Amino acid sequence: MNLIFLGPPGSGKGTMATAVEKALGIPQISTGDMLRRHMREGTPLGIAAKSYVDKGELVPDDIVIGMVKERLHQPDCRNGYILDGFPRTVAQAEALGAIADIDTVVNFELSDEIIMRRLADRRVCPHGHGTFSAAGLGSEEVCPQCGAVLVHRHDDKEDTVRNRLNVYHTQTEPLIAYYLKSGKFLSIAMEGTVEDNRRTLMQALENAAKE
Ligand code: ADP
Repeated sequence: MNLIFLGPPGSGKGTMATAVEKALGIPQISTGDMLRRHMREGTPLGIAAKSYVDKGELVPDDIVIGMVKERLHQPDCRNGYILDGFPRTVAQAEALGAIADIDTVVNFELSDEIIMRRLADRRVCPHGHGTFSAAGLGSEEVCPQCGAVLVHRHDDKEDTVRNRLNVYHTQTEPLIAYYLKSGKFLSIAMEGTVEDNRRTLMQALENAAKE
């Protein structure tokens, strides 16, 4: 199954993609994670992307499209994949449409107000062991899996989040209309707990697969 997860930053699409990866055994392809890895390793792609990511702007389409094309050719994508954070522009969606058959587009819905609150509280493991709520951790902000000190992503700071939401509304939200026409589109409200949202999503994906 080839899936696209759409939605504003902080809507929980990454957490849901991790859950679906586990449940269905298909890889989560997070362009945000891939870009951050390139930035950490100081590759030419990472150096080119850094100024955009730090400001909460979109990295230019040609860079991201090239990176995703290469990733989709890897053998672990043969039985399907979950695109988390791609496409984010109509140009990216068109480039993807030329190389892939998408089965379902899931749109995750959450208000800007809740997103602002969630991202102020979000902490991530620097070794990729997931996302945590600072409020849920108390004073010990360490990864429960590896013990590393958790970080508040530089682009999760308030001003940058505002900019990311702006970018989302102007450049990514038009993809809802773009994919609505395809008839392979479903929307999930993300106000609930992670477990509630996961159950709703799995049920919706099962129903979509039957159609
Ligand atoms: P979030 O979904 O929480 O905004 P991501 O980790 O998906 O966070 O993305 C972080 C940043 O990486 C974005 O603000 C943007 O700069 C860059 N990025 C990720 N995916 C794309 C994409 N498909 N196109 C352009 N830039 C991207």
